[in-house]
Amino acid sequence: MGMDQKQKSTICVIGGSAAGLASAIFAAREGANVILIEGNEKLGRKIYATGNGKCNFANIDQDRSHFHTSSDPAWISVALNSMDNDFILTFFHELGLPPVVRHGGYFYPANESAATVVTCLEDEIRRLGVEVILSDRMRTLQQEAGRFIVQTRSGRVFDADAVILAMGGSASPKFGSDGSGYYYAKNFGHTIVEPLPALCPLKLKENGASFSVWAGTRISDAAITLIVDEKPTDTEKGEILFTDYGISGIPVFQVAGGAAIALEKGQKVSVEIDLAPGTDAEDAMGAFPEWCEYFGERTIQEQLARIFPVKLIDALKTIPDRNKKMASIKPAVFGKAVDTLKHLRFDVFNTLGFDHAQVSSGGISLPEVEPTTMESKLQPGLYFAGELLDVNGDCGGYNLQFAFTSGAIAGKTAAQRCLQGRGE
Ligand SMILES: Cc1cc2nc3c(=O)[nH]c(=O)nc-3n(C[C@H](O)[C@H](O)[C@H](O)COP(=O)(O)OP(=O)(O)OC[C@H]3O[C@@H](n4cnc5c(N)ncnc54)[C@H](O)[C@@H]3O)c2cc1C
Repeated sequence: MGMDQKQKSTICVIGGSAAGLASAIFAAREGANVILIEGNEKLGRKIYATGNGKCNFANIDQDRSHFHTSSDPAWISVALNSMDNDFILTFFHELGLPPVVRHGGYFYPANESAATVVTCLEDEIRRLGVEVILSDRMRTLQQEAGRFIVQTRSGRVFDADAVILAMGGSASPKFGSDGSGYYYAKNFGHTIVEPLPALCPLKLKENGASFSVWAGTRISDAAITLIVDEKPTDTEKGEILFTDYGISGIPVFQVAGGAAIALEKGQKVSVEIDLAPGTDAEDAMGAFPEWCEYFGERTIQEQLARIFPVKLIDALKTIPDRNKKMASIKPAVFGKAVDTLKHLRFDVFNTLGFDHAQVSSGGISLPEVEPTTMESKLQPGLYFAGELLDVNGDCGGYNLQFAFTSGAIAGKTAAQRCLQGRGE
């Protein structure tokens, strides 16, 4: 398509998921002409998968320690504080989605349907007259004489006053986020903090266990501590799933980002798992005399299999004196075996990678972006939103909250500045 046929627009938003949809909605609400370009055949593909299909979009615990960055932690507080405290809840109310709080302070839409969230976002996009281009990806982005020229793979060309890049990071590329946003930001001189998988399972070294035997075992109330260069850095509790490569589950996801960063730096990374954080070895010892009296012929391993999941006991060749009969040992020997199950130590080999990660850490370095507007400090008129930036949150709704909030800030300010510039 030649330049004479090119379509004219004010704001071009690239990426039609959480950050891009919020950008488009808030830019259009300000009265801007908005074009939204999404590579997938439908909008919000990743949103459908969030919160196990229920869309956990925010959390009641708003402590800023739930958001992480390698470039500038203060930036995140400034950015989030630039919107009303209740911004995210108000936004969902306005979409016709009253929020409800569930376990852990997680916010969901009342009907617990991520598909409904996408439908309501689409309704708002339609109501505001946003032009939506689907199944087409941005191929080139250039700046010419104060305007942005966006060309898509299919050859369409758009001429925009401002561009918002909301293309996500590298996590879960099957939903469309292939990390290409970093490339476009780099072309405008931005620094990219090395993207790494976060919120994902961990591959462990077997260290004497047999992962093929324990695969499929779930411990609903376990604790995991991340240990970097022999120092504990983070402890998380909850359900841990043992697999044939290592471990998965929310507490594992929570420590995985830190593990990935430490591994990238060449540090020694291990995890310690406590299979019964509510019980200490002494509690088990209290029952030992009685067990010995009635079941003295049982081995330590047989008795432990009545306290802890059988599969795990079968898989742990490291349990001290596992084959000794209880009647033949001193209580301290049994205590040591229990203690082993409360301090299961494994070296971390790797994360399971971007394909299995819910988010990426790293991204566009924050000091190069204005936190109250999301505008590039290097290229006026260029804005960023969502996971593409060097911000990643804990499990619990923080990532969607940041994507929606940064998108709203980018959309609103981009539109206001463009419209002011034209005297509209
Ligand atoms: C399985 C899963 C469950 C999750 N659950 C939760 C949860 O419950 N709560 C939570 O807070 N977070 C959750 N997350 C994380 C959350 O979904 C993301 O952090 C969030 O979607 C990021 O939004 P985004 O708009 O920045 O990027 P993305 O959602 O990744 O969207 C980027 C979009 O840009 C498009 N795109 C990329 N390049 C181009 C291009 N060149 N041209 C056109 N389009 C392009 C992509 O197709 C994609 O649609 C989950 C993630 C996954 C994978």
